[in-house]
Amino acid sequence: MATATITAGMSRRAHALWRLAQVLSWVAGMFVWGALIVKPDLGLHLLWNVLIPIAPALLVLAPGIWRNVCPLGSMSLVPHHLGLSQDKRLSPTWRSRLFLGAFILLVLVVPLRKVLLDTNGPVLAAILTVVGLLAIGLGSIFKWKSGWCSSLCPVYPVELLYGARPVISVHNAHCSSCLNCVAPCSESTAGLTPLTAVNTKLGRTIGVALTGLFPGFVWGWYNVPTYGGWDGFSHLHIAYGIPFAGGGATLMVYLILRTVLPTLEHLIASVFAAAAIITYYWFRLPPVFGIGAPDAAMIVDISAWLPTWSATALRILTFLAFGWLMVVRTGWRAWETPPPSGDGSSVIKTLDPTISV
Ligand code: SF4
Repeated sequence: MATATITAGMSRRAHALWRLAQVLSWVAGMFVWGALIVKPDLGLHLLWNVLIPIAPALLVLAPGIWRNVCPLGSMSLVPHHLGLSQDKRLSPTWRSRLFLGAFILLVLVVPLRKVLLDTNGPVLAAILTVVGLLAIGLGSIFKWKSGWCSSLCPVYPVELLYGARPVISVHNAHCSSCLNCVAPCSESTAGLTPLTAVNTKLGRTIGVALTGLFPGFVWGWYNVPTYGGWDGFSHLHIAYGIPFAGGGATLMVYLILRTVLPTLEHLIASVFAAAAIITYYWFRLPPVFGIGAPDAAMIVDISAWLPTWSATALRILTFLAFGWLMVVRTGWRAWETPPPSGDGSSVIKTLDPTISV
């Protein structure tokens, strides 16, 4: 999967380290995938209780790290590296449609966790296999990152939602030179949000829907119990109904605020993005340390050493940290430093996210 050239500004050592990180990430991904089949409890624990809880915070702090090492992202680029990709240019219309597919996949798969994917390793492995084949398939048709990483990947809408103002920008470890696969480039454009990433009417509509829906959707998801075995399929109305009811409520509030306060549209979107991740860690962080729900999500049980107000303290900390990082802090930054374009220049483009859409 290695490319022959090194991104401008990146030392050979940094290049080698990124390649190593990509290989290790892929090996770790394959390990989890294999564990889901042969040792489901281990695979499910590693995926849902170790990797996934870290991901949202990483997307806020340094989404470029994830974009550089995501195993599915690397796999989608294999056809190009092998010279097997048709490298077709993805039209804005089709990119919007794939972006809609990403959004639909996201909101369909997340509730499915509660009825099936949180407890059934082999089924989850089968779904990941289909997703991996989809990533490779799109990479074998469309140019570079356009088909998967910047369109149909169901994590992409969340990357845009949480990663609008990264704390850290890293080198682009995939693109040794810019092939202009998508515009605006997801990696090199500062100020990209769900509202501005896909610049078509459909793309902007999806951005609005995602931004408004997500806080309530996450809240609703945490209020659905986890069903074991195949019993969950008789509770699909609960697994989907509560997240969509919560999401519908916050979407309504979001649309009203956007309409009555159009000049604050950017600020309102930032508040809703922050609300979604604060809601996520509000529920998720205390159990990580064994507080509250030890059976569900514990990574390390230190609850015996913690005072009774620890859960409240963690939640206040979550609120302050993400409120500051995503709403109060100013300045826009691209996920990654851009590779040279055709003329050899390396330019970070900045969108004005305050532009009304
Ligand atoms: S830097 Fe260029 S080649 Fe790489 S993702 Fe962005 S537009 Fe595509």
